[in-house]
Amino acid sequence: MMLAEKVEPLFEAKSHEFYTIATLGSHSALQILKGAHDEGFRTLAIANRQTERLYRSFNFVDEVIGIPRYEDFPEHVGLLGNRKIIIVPHGSFVAYLSLEDHKRMTIPYFGNKAILDWEASRELQRQWLSAAGLNLPRQFRSGSEIDRPVIVKLYGAHGGKGYMFLRDAHDFEERAGLVARRNYIIQEYIIGVPLYIHYFYSPLTGRLEIMSMDRRYETNVDSLGRIPAAAQEGLDLQPSYVVVGNAPLSLRESMLAEAYRMGEEVVRVSKEICPPKGLFGAFCIETIITPDTQFYVMEISARIVAGTNLFIDGSPYSYLNYSEPMSTGRRIARELKNALLSNSLRYVLDDSSVL
Ligand code: ATP
Repeated sequence: MMLAEKVEPLFEAKSHEFYTIATLGSHSALQILKGAHDEGFRTLAIANRQTERLYRSFNFVDEVIGIPRYEDFPEHVGLLGNRKIIIVPHGSFVAYLSLEDHKRMTIPYFGNKAILDWEASRELQRQWLSAAGLNLPRQFRSGSEIDRPVIVKLYGAHGGKGYMFLRDAHDFEERAGLVARRNYIIQEYIIGVPLYIHYFYSPLTGRLEIMSMDRRYETNVDSLGRIPAAAQEGLDLQPSYVVVGNAPLSLRESMLAEAYRMGEEVVRVSKEICPPKGLFGAFCIETIITPDTQFYVMEISARIVAGTNLFIDGSPYSYLNYSEPMSTGRRIARELKNALLSNSLRYVLDDSSVL
């Protein structure tokens, strides 16, 4: 029997101690707030002038607070008063708020902020993933080292914008001007299927779950195959990686064990680099699978990713565990609920959280 089912009456009895789950109105806020509502929490969207009306239009959003710009959120934390609020971060938090902003906030925060340093630095992230024994694309220090097709990634690029495919060292020399005086990395180009695996690690039970997975649909790289290679000759077509949307995918079951192992190893090493809590809650390993069914890891996101929005009603994988609609957003709320019920909130919040 699940912990939450066992203690449901207690939760009801404690309903006077109402907790509100809050997040910024963007990215996966609808999923997070719907999940929080379904688990019995009050919900709050912190929106801006453009998004306020949208979030008000959903009946599971109990409250909307409008602020001029998401970047200013840390200044407006006072608006939330002395209420029992827990912030659930998503991708827009790292886009709008600096690491320092994150660390300055003392409002209860789901997740471990210490891991953000390891995620934000490409070098530290590589150390972390290597220590977890994952296959990583080779990295080249300079153009002259390039001995295979590569992808050049500008620092601070988002949503695949600012990436450049180069065939070889000669190609790099010809086009290096495009990245001159900017910070970038040169990475081996892995040809295969991109697969983004969404995990949830529960610090309360010590169990890792595969929640769902998706592949991104990117323009124009995913459409180049629609034009025969011969017809592309002379067109000077450059692949670009701008994400347009996400498509669901279920993985060959024979490859699932490796997907699970990768998640376990990443969590194990995270406890060594950011002791004792390590990485917990939702995270995503972004992979490319080659014809020999090897996973190469491009990146890790240490929080809920937008690809989970496909599964607001649950995924085939979450259904196996829950037999009810269980999105990643709802799974986060379930963890918070279980923590509240077992008096373990401190295990699922960042240590900076002032309760
Ligand atoms: P987001 O912030 O939305 O996650 P991003 O800017 O971090 O995007 P990545 O997810 O790292 O970008 O990569 C974007 C796309 O670039 C990938 O989906 C993939 O198509 C391509 N890509 C990245 N690294 C490689 C690689 N080493 N080999 C082949 N393709 C790659």
